Amino acid sequence: MKLGIARERREGERRVAATPETVKQLTGLGLEVLVESRAGIFAGHGDDDYLQAGAMVVQDLDLGELDAYAHVRPLELPTAAALRRGTVTVGLASPSSELATVRELADGGVTSFALELVPRISRAQSMDALSSQALVAGYRCVLEAAIRLPRFFPLYMTAAGTVPPARVLVLGVGVAGLQAIGTAKRLGARVSANDIRPSSAEEVTSMGGTFIKLDLETAEASGGYARELSADRGALQRRLLAPHVAEADVLITTAAVPGRRAPLLVTREMVQGMRPGSVVVDLAAESGGNVEGSLPGRDVQFPTADGRGAVTVVGLKDAPSAMPTDASRLYAKNVANLLALMTRDGTVAPDFDDDVIAGACLTHDGVVRHQPTAEALA
Ligand code: NAD
Repeated sequence: MKLGIARERREGERRVAATPETVKQLTGLGLEVLVESRAGIFAGHGDDDYLQAGAMVVQDLDLGELDAYAHVRPLELPTAAALRRGTVTVGLASPSSELATVRELADGGVTSFALELVPRISRAQSMDALSSQALVAGYRCVLEAAIRLPRFFPLYMTAAGTVPPARVLVLGVGVAGLQAIGTAKRLGARVSANDIRPSSAEEVTSMGGTFIKLDLETAEASGGYARELSADRGALQRRLLAPHVAEADVLITTAAVPGRRAPLLVTREMVQGMRPGSVVVDLAAESGGNVEGSLPGRDVQFPTADGRGAVTVVGLKDAPSAMPTDASRLYAKNVANLLALMTRDGTVAPDFDDDVIAGACLTHDGVVRHQPTAEALA
């Protein structure tokens, strides 16, 4: 069966859905892998590398002749329309925001798998692209902050005097937040963190951070996710967080609630209460923002309340794509592992009795199988 690897179409996307390493894994499954020329160029893989790994490199994929298609960003409508009935696709699909494409995939009889829908269970960890890409984003947040902060992260005791460590506050301790804590600790900062899920306290401590316990009811939902706080509780959380935000040199926010706009954790006033030169990185800027006034892909300066300077608010955008080599290394393994789960003797044949395959399937045989998306389309 022919598996096509896309040269990503969306502006600014630098990752790729297969690396030479995963091409070996995929050809080992008996698949014929066709890579679009220059698909891996930003991730550090030239066409020759793919050839040597056993792929065929083509100028442009003929989408209509593929049996399977792997991609990073959600398909654009013309791509979805060009795939033939029965083609299996694997990649990120953003079902809630790409409804027209989902409709097209279903109507065209494409069997599409959305990596966002892979169940968060132990057996599926090697296919969990949300986690692998959140890891990259969490690491990146800290570097973005460190480069903008007009001071060191670590403690230095030198003949010329002692430099105290930077204080980093992380709000939202899922996969990205934990990586942010780990990275900031490795750089030598003093790190504290808060999340509304009580189980996150132990994880913060195990990464060397200090958990900030707020006098606030917790909000853990099934599957280890957070529940949305009521408006009153949200306001109370912001009030309780304000003194911690004011003390931080660096604030990193990564809070999310599945299927909802990102919760607002930090108001403009709270940012303006920080010291001049402080840096805020909002990883949720693209999904509504945890910080009032953050803009995706932009640095915004907020004058401090004391009139002595400004705080830089960084709205991160496409964070994993900014580190295409390692983001692709992990993403491509997620894709290959999911394909391996549904490939027998060179044939991609999903078994819908498998929970992981059934859970990750977005469309099949003309039907939108993911219930919330089907309801949104109804
Ligand atoms: P996410 O991206 O959905 O959210 C990020 C964090 O924001 C979460 O920790 C959430 O509790 C927090 N949050 C939401 N509202 C908040 C608020 N008002 N204030 C502070 N924090 C708030 O989370 P994620 O990274 O996808 O991880 C969610 C959970 O899934 C975690 O418990 C994680 O350990 C678990 N997980 C399990 C597996 C697995 O078993 N395979 C894989 C990945 C993640």
